[in-house]
Amino acid sequence: MKVLVLNCGSSSIKYQFIDTAAQSALAKGMVERIGMSSAILTHQPLDKEKIKIVGEILDHSIAIEYVIAVLLSPNHGVIKDKSEIDAVGHRVVHGGETFSGSVLITDQVMKALKDNIELAPLHNPPNIKGIQATKEHLPETPQVGVFDTSFHIKMPPQAFLYGIPYELYKKYKIRRYGFHGTSHRFVSQRAGIMFGKPFQELKIITAHLGNGCSMAAVDHGHSIDTTMGFTPLEGLIMGTRSGDMDPSVILYIMAKEGLSLSEANTLLNKHSGLIGISGESSDMREIEEAIAEGHKKAKYAFDVFTYRIKKYVGSYAAAMGGLDALVFTGGIGENSINVRKEVCRDMGFLGIKIDQTKNENVKGETDISASDSKVKVLRIPTNEELVIALDTQQIVSEELTSARAASSH
Ligand code: ADP
Repeated sequence: MKVLVLNCGSSSIKYQFIDTAAQSALAKGMVERIGMSSAILTHQPLDKEKIKIVGEILDHSIAIEYVIAVLLSPNHGVIKDKSEIDAVGHRVVHGGETFSGSVLITDQVMKALKDNIELAPLHNPPNIKGIQATKEHLPETPQVGVFDTSFHIKMPPQAFLYGIPYELYKKYKIRRYGFHGTSHRFVSQRAGIMFGKPFQELKIITAHLGNGCSMAAVDHGHSIDTTMGFTPLEGLIMGTRSGDMDPSVILYIMAKEGLSLSEANTLLNKHSGLIGISGESSDMREIEEAIAEGHKKAKYAFDVFTYRIKKYVGSYAAAMGGLDALVFTGGIGENSINVRKEVCRDMGFLGIKIDQTKNENVKGETDISASDSKVKVLRIPTNEELVIALDTQQIVSEELTSARAASSH
């Protein structure tokens, strides 16, 4: 099946056109600066030259029209007819408590997505716009929603409830949801394959470390706890987000600096984390470069970042009552030798030991554990788009099978 995977943000759309049989992308690209007269579409077909188009793209509907047009383009395209797009899979950020897995988009699902807007006011509206725009241009093509939250939705109440009045959970659905679910699911399944055992038999900690960072405790195939919470702000230190802190701190800063709600939100989400502490950069490569040049605050940022991960490794091993594998993924997890080294330093008491030569020479999925490490330490490149494509294929195939069965009765 050929699946168009869409990740629609407020001013950008990332896409991949994936052949699920080959498990590879026939083309990938991105539309940026949607809403502006100088929007940019970058399109990279497999085995053909990359192209860049600059022009006016005022909304998501026009952006998707462009994406379909480049996929069909005689010079840069990969299909001859729209009908070759068998299905469209959307990354949807927040499924709330409604969705415990990926779903075929129906009118009922659209209503539920709209009901969840309050929980993800920045992310769900562009996801919804993307689905509506796709329907305009590909009215007959099935669409599937794959949620960042659904892998975590079976967390037990002890992990998802906050220590605030229970009525607030009931009234406003304030609880831990967790995000990056497609990535945590994918890498924990891959870890099982590398381990030679189904992930349903293992205790795995996954660390997705990108611009956004989160960890999950994946116990026998289920996420039983994760570091992101009601929003993606909680947990680890990230590029620009604070992660965990005493909630009173923000009340204090708001009072002292006279910040509005929206300014406080911006401070925590955009000016904190690596950039906030270092004053240098939100990008781990640049933090590591700054440390090499002797910047003290960059070193603090690195230390707070890695120490927080270390603490969660300990707490999730305790939560699961043991640990079989620790997985690093995301731009930082896959590429930063120093972050992996620092997180795993002096963790022998938990059975975690890495082989430094292996850690320095990773390629693709790599086992970096020392030969006497009880816990396997794995570097696994994530592939969220592939998960979305495969989920889409599975759901669309099931729908087709049940539609055929119904029509034959
Ligand atoms: P996103 O969460 O936006 O998908 P990525 O997963 O691509 O982001 O991760 C981006 C992060 O990965 C940045 O902090 C970047 O510095 C970091 N990164 C990429 N390559 C390296 C590297 N070689 N060493 C250290 N950090 C790296």
